[in-house]
Amino acid sequence: MATGYETVIGLEVHVQLATASKMFCACGSDYQSAAPNTRVCPVCLGLPGSLPQINSKAVEYTILTGLALGCQIPEYTKFDRKNYPYPDLMKGYQISQYDKPLALQGIMPIDVDGQQKDINVTRVHLEEDVAKLSHISDSSGSYSVVDINRAGVALMEIVSEPDMRSAEEARQYLMNMHSMVQYLGVSNANMEDGNFRCDANVSVRLKGQEEFGTRTEIKNMNSFRSVVSAIEYETQRQIDVIESGGKVVQETRGWVDDKQVTASQRSKEQAHDYRYFPEPDLPPLIISAQMVEEIKALLPELPSVRKERFINDLDLTEYEADLLTSEKSTADYFENVVNKLPEQSDRYKPIKTTSNFILGDLTALMKDAGENFSSCSFPPNYLAELVMTVVSGDISVNIAKNVLAESFKTQDSPSVIIERNDYAVISDTDVLFASVETVVANNTKAVEDYKSGKESAAKFLVGQVMKETKGQAKPDVVAGIVLEVLSKY
Ligand code: ADP
Ligand code: MG
Ligand code: ZN
Repeated sequence: MATGYETVIGLEVHVQLATASKMFCACGSDYQSAAPNTRVCPVCLGLPGSLPQINSKAVEYTILTGLALGCQIPEYTKFDRKNYPYPDLMKGYQISQYDKPLALQGIMPIDVDGQQKDINVTRVHLEEDVAKLSHISDSSGSYSVVDINRAGVALMEIVSEPDMRSAEEARQYLMNMHSMVQYLGVSNANMEDGNFRCDANVSVRLKGQEEFGTRTEIKNMNSFRSVVSAIEYETQRQIDVIESGGKVVQETRGWVDDKQVTASQRSKEQAHDYRYFPEPDLPPLIISAQMVEEIKALLPELPSVRKERFINDLDLTEYEADLLTSEKSTADYFENVVNKLPEQSDRYKPIKTTSNFILGDLTALMKDAGENFSSCSFPPNYLAELVMTVVSGDISVNIAKNVLAESFKTQDSPSVIIERNDYAVISDTDVLFASVETVVANNTKAVEDYKSGKESAAKFLVGQVMKETKGQAKPDVVAGIVLEVLSKY
């Protein structure tokens, strides 16, 4: 970035809610798995005379999200019609919320250089998704097809204030939001599947300047990575426009992933006039204080709180706690294993070892197998068993990695694998003495070096014994025996 400029970013996040049925009708919201145009009825087809009904679960999920963000929940809320003609909009309007959203003024904290920064959330409101258009080019020409399954699916929109100042801040805000809705259980929040989408409003201004610059709104980003790339690209593009004497025009731009650029879609002059007005087919919704209290009682432990608990109660580092809690399924798996660890005096050691295995080898194995922690085939009690054999010194960490890999593959328990491969640590000192004697006898040079004062020669001999015993001996025990044998020379 040319120095002297600052980026200003506000995000609009769309979250498809995990309700069984659509926002205003009884059709199933399983639009992705169902055959095209099979989840439709007069309401979501927009047929004249049909009447919408509000999905109470969607209202509950939106209030829950608002409460998790510390929003206020106004008593009076209503739905409005947002009018625009487009083939993905069956009725010619979308039912949304205009001036009376379900939740107002919340906060999402992010971390900037180790300091907490609060990003203000303007509002959270409910609306309905639109149909899916696919543009096809084949031997019969270019045409578009429409799948109405998605039309009417409950969609929650979370709008932020223009409080972010870099692509990295936007990434964190988005990651935290993503993890929060998963913890709340209100959405599957799969970005690739489009359950969790984000539009970025971006402008630039000179540092120290009070007013905001003209913004553009960027759409079509379907991964966290593309959001970051799009914001970085757009920031530089706007700076280039200004530096070459031009003016940024307010417009909607689309992210073109294979070219890694944003391209103009629609300027302010072409922008729709939505002609919002209150939805005449739905009465205003009055949210009682009692309803808010009941929903508040459903709030689960949120990622930031869970992270603090992992640090304070389980003695994990900030880094470990962060990695373990960012996906709810990973944190759940971890706690599942921890709860299976037997009571013992040093509680923290097995917990730390569990964290190491989960963040290291197990994650790698699952990645290779195309699994994730929400569908992890490795039983938590197997990992607890493996952790305890390491902590008690029965096998070394290196051997345990082999055991984990084999156990993951075969689904045999760690103890069966240790037995089968004869992996248990050699604790028979007679065996170790014999091994040390042999190594010492075969390495006369190292013995001489040691006697002439080279301490490192003893380390070399320990290494040779470890090799001989295939890592199945405890290095500190071997070191003791090596020194004892050397003293006789
Ligand atoms: P609209 O309804 O036209 O999308 P809003 O005023 O609701 O406009 O703003 C939408 C988003 O744009 C919000 O997230 C807001 O924070 C962001 N925003 C507004 N002004 C700017 C700006 N100058 N630069 C960056 N983001 C902005
Ligand atoms: Mg907008
Ligand atoms: Zn329907």
